[in-house]
Amino acid sequence: MTTEAPPKGELRPIVPYLALGNTRDEDYLFGSRCTNCGTLYVGPRLFCGKCSGEGPFETVRFSKEGEVYVWSIIHQSVPWVKVPYIAAVIDLPEGVSVNANIEGIEPKPENLKFGMKVKMFTEVVSQDADGNQYVGYKFRPA
Ligand SMILES: [Zn+2]
Repeated sequence: MTTEAPPKGELRPIVPYLALGNTRDEDYLFGSRCTNCGTLYVGPRLFCGKCSGEGPFETVRFSKEGEVYVWSIIHQSVPWVKVPYIAAVIDLPEGVSVNANIEGIEPKPENLKFGMKVKMFTEVVSQDADGNQYVGYKFRPA
C-alpha cells in the first residue's frame, strides 16, 4: 500500500478579488463598497476614488452570473498560452465589471453576443516551483 504525500504548496487565488471556498463551487468574486458614498469597487480597497474617503469599506460578494459587455477573440499570445481564446469584459448585476476569459464554446464570432448570459467557474490554472497552485476564474455560457 502506498500513501500519496500531501501537496507541498497551498491553493492561492490568482487575483486578490477571488475568495476561495472549501471547494471550487464555493469560490466567489468580491468587492468593496464605500460606506460613505456607496461606490462599489472590485476587490479590496483602501481609498475611495469618488468621495476621496478612506471608507470604511464593506465587503460585497458578487454574483456568479453576468452578461458579456464586450469580447474579443485573441489569436496571438505568448508561447505558453493556447490560442485562440475569448477575452471578455463581463458586467455583474451588482454594477461592476471584470475581465475574464470565456470557455466552453468555440472561439468564433458566431458563438458570441453582446449581453449573452455567462456563469463564473474557477479552476487551477498554474502551479509554481514550490508546489503552490493558483486558482483562476473564467466564465462559460449560462
Ligand atoms: Zn466613497
